[in-house]
Amino acid sequence: MNLDNPTLKDLLNGLESKKISSPEIFSYYNNRISSLDKHIGSVITRVEFDEESIEPHSIPIGHKDIYSTKDIKTTAASNILKDYVPPYDATSVTRLTTAGFRTIAKLNCDAFAHGATGENSDFFPTKNPYDVSRVPGGSSSGSAAAVAAGFVPVATATDTGGSIRFPASFTNTVGIKPTYGRVSRHGIFAMTSSTDSIGHFTKTVWDSAYVLNKTAGYDPLDATSSRTPVPDYLSTIGDSITGLTLGVPQEYLKDIDPEIEKVFDEAVKTFTALGAKIVEVSLPHTKYAISSYYIITPSEISSNLARLNGIRYGYDRSEFGQEAKRRIMLGTYCLSAGYYDQYYKKAQQARTLVVKDFTEAFEQVDALIAPVSAVMQPKLGEVVNDPVKNYMLDVLAVPANLAGVPSLALPAGFSHNLPVGLQIIGKHFDEALLYRFGYAFEQETMHYKTVPTLKDYE
Ligand code: GLN
Repeated sequence: MNLDNPTLKDLLNGLESKKISSPEIFSYYNNRISSLDKHIGSVITRVEFDEESIEPHSIPIGHKDIYSTKDIKTTAASNILKDYVPPYDATSVTRLTTAGFRTIAKLNCDAFAHGATGENSDFFPTKNPYDVSRVPGGSSSGSAAAVAAGFVPVATATDTGGSIRFPASFTNTVGIKPTYGRVSRHGIFAMTSSTDSIGHFTKTVWDSAYVLNKTAGYDPLDATSSRTPVPDYLSTIGDSITGLTLGVPQEYLKDIDPEIEKVFDEAVKTFTALGAKIVEVSLPHTKYAISSYYIITPSEISSNLARLNGIRYGYDRSEFGQEAKRRIMLGTYCLSAGYYDQYYKKAQQARTLVVKDFTEAFEQVDALIAPVSAVMQPKLGEVVNDPVKNYMLDVLAVPANLAGVPSLALPAGFSHNLPVGLQIIGKHFDEALLYRFGYAFEQETMHYKTVPTLKDYE
């Protein structure tokens, strides 16, 4: 079998029909990482093993470096944990291993997942495989770039305030942010415990559904994981979307780059041609989402990072990067006596209004579609020193996190050879419907076939 940017489905079919073996698959991806990752910087740690130990039917996977992996260094892309080796696997890692995935790399990200460009990694920034002078988006920068560059067919990640969907839209990949509680958070570094959602990147929608089938479901080790039954996401993926209604939230189209608007308008036309009914909807409290997120998030971070004061790991607090320190200070301030009511409580009240917006919208429509990012991929260095600009990048992503609803990001097209993504947001636990919409769109447009020309760097 000719391995030319295969999808996960191609690999599974190849293994099934014996056209390819697992050792051949592992050597294909390992060779690509060896020859090309020096241009991208997506990998923090590579996992070495002999070919003989590769079980038949196994497939390589990369994990964001905030997923605990037993006996494999897990740094959270931070200096403070640069030598930390966990004694256990995150539940998602365990489930994916049982499903036949084997870890070949731990992937770069913003340290502790704080960021939107990948440049807050304490080690090095990751570059966008479609244009190495630009960021791939963050915080799951390495996971997105590794899938886009064809270093792994699947990479896990987390989306606390856009960190899967945002880089997916910058790298022409598919990223799922499942419903809060759909996938266990156990063993994954806590950032904002009330919004952390556990998902992954793949090249296609089918591949994404395949992986969610393996990771979703109740976990006794995570008290916030849900007991809601998990459907088979692949069994309805090919069903028609004719007659279903998609809402376009008007607030999400304000102040977006005209290039993104153009691609988005085309996407809306495609959905109409596929038989979906498009209606305008309003989510009037969207304007409060980013401000409340940036009060709630540092507040929860200041509590979660307190366990990593560094002293127990042999370092002092000076090992924390700028952004971690900024968030610890902001959060501590927002939670202090006197300020709690003024900031934290108010942010939680605004959050309730954002939740209500979604509830009301879903009384009229089956799902919502919107751009993921209001801007095209910034150049490396362009926003990293401007925290407010950086925080604003996730303005269209954070409302779904505050409400805990699922959102699927997928390739929508290109502008001057740079990918543009769109997101489909659904009701709680309605991932199957998001996949149905996404699959119909993908089959019609096939944008995932446009891969970066990495050969240029060789
Ligand atoms: N960019 C957002 C932040 O910095 C989201 C990060 C994330 O989803 N992990 O908080």
